[in-house]
Amino acid sequence: MGKIIDGKALGLSIREEIKQSVKELKLKGIIPKLVVVLVGNDSASQVYVRNKEKGCLDVGIESQTYNFPSNIKEKELIVLIEKLNSDKAVHGVLVQLPLPKEIDEKKVLSKILPEKDVDGFHIENIGKLFRGETPLFLPCTPRGIMELILSTGISLEGKEAVVVGRSNIVGKPMAMLLLDANCTVTVCHSRTKDLGMVVRRGDVVVAAVGQARLISGDMIKQGAIVIDVGMNRIDGKLCGDVDFDSAKEKAAYITPVPGGVGPMTIAMLLKSVLESANRGMIAG
Ligand code: NDP
Repeated sequence: MGKIIDGKALGLSIREEIKQSVKELKLKGIIPKLVVVLVGNDSASQVYVRNKEKGCLDVGIESQTYNFPSNIKEKELIVLIEKLNSDKAVHGVLVQLPLPKEIDEKKVLSKILPEKDVDGFHIENIGKLFRGETPLFLPCTPRGIMELILSTGISLEGKEAVVVGRSNIVGKPMAMLLLDANCTVTVCHSRTKDLGMVVRRGDVVVAAVGQARLISGDMIKQGAIVIDVGMNRIDGKLCGDVDFDSAKEKAAYITPVPGGVGPMTIAMLLKSVLESANRGMIAG
């Protein structure tokens, strides 16, 4: 039976380090600050934003949330982002996705200064990741997943990695990070033929699909590292994209839901805000 990778514990220890660094920055007169822009009243987005605010509060990072109705004009959002870009007291600007479909998400994200793009979704930061250069910020979920994998102590060099899902937020940047770590990477999606056959090749499997328990134990190679990104609600209970009970019998390491990837995503966001504040201090 596989060992559980405890994302909650790892996330908490990273938060402790961040808390210390924030204290030191405050002694130098700098208060790291994150601004979150939330549009509409999607209940999942509201929960994510609340968790981000709580995380900031916990480590001493200042946070402010702008909550707009879903009929806000794209232009108004852009004006706000430009104002935040030039505000020296703001170190990170995050637009909670998804935005209402009337708003051009790519256009709005492109207006965030790459130096404040703590989510790592700006074309300049994502572009650098895809070109093998070091971006200012990495997307928080894939970055957190790399930390979870690293915590197993297993070398990724030459491993077969299978990423299920090709979103810009998780799947694609995840594939790039695994490629950078010298894995042989396969990306699956809704048109993949025989998902089980492909996933069974994976020494590392990252499931980011959004379908409860899609990845069953019989798809998992003996001894694999299994990372479950999925957050699905079944009868009010949170459940992953991996069928945990059957997969843990085959995996060497596996993340639970909740308590795996989720807490690491928040920890990485807080780390990005801290790094941005540190960079701002150096730049003066
Ligand atoms: P998206 O909906 O943007 O992407 C889902 C991907 O899964 C798509 O690429 C889709 O393929 C693919 N897919 C759908 N059905 C299948 C299938 N039957 N077989 C193979 N692939 C399939 O989701 P996200 O990447 O944004 O999120 C994925 C999950 O992770 C969600 O549950 C989300 O809530 C969760 N999440 C969790 C986070 C955390 O911090 N824990 C952070 C972000 C997301 P195609 O492209 O062909 O449509």
